[in-house]
Amino acid sequence: MRIGQGIDMHAFATDATLPLVLGGVRVSESGGLAGHSDADAVAHALADAVLGAAGLGDLGDHFPDTDAAWAGADSIELLRTVVDKATSAGFRVVNGDCTVVLEAPKLAPHRAAMAERLSDAMGAPVSVKATRPEAMPSLDGVLCIAIVLLEEDA
Ligand code: MG
Repeated sequence: MRIGQGIDMHAFATDATLPLVLGGVRVSESGGLAGHSDADAVAHALADAVLGAAGLGDLGDHFPDTDAAWAGADSIELLRTVVDKATSAGFRVVNGDCTVVLEAPKLAPHRAAMAERLSDAMGAPVSVKATRPEAMPSLDGVLCIAIVLLEEDA
């Protein structure tokens, strides 16, 4: 068994018309995050956790933000690609778990859909939790912390 951890943060974009995409789900049609790809901090944190567990470096090694190919990329596809790399390296995902920290909007109505998309992308159960930065209203974006367990192929 191998464990990996990933953290990602994105600030809200100055262009308020961008959709907010988290865990592969459009949770809001506005108030999106700034980033080179679709800025899905949840998919990015999980992908980094997979890479960490597999000992395959980090997301920036595989998908440099200087590479135009990843501009506006669907981060669920990026997560699938990372899981494929781990599979090629001889690992199977056992499960993933993540906590999303944000002030608004409320994620409760979207958590099940996010978990479903992420579980589909990772081929294993992924749970999604959300918490608000109580008394720390200055978080001007989204933070996600993820943990992933991998099993070596027999
Ligand atoms: Mg990111």
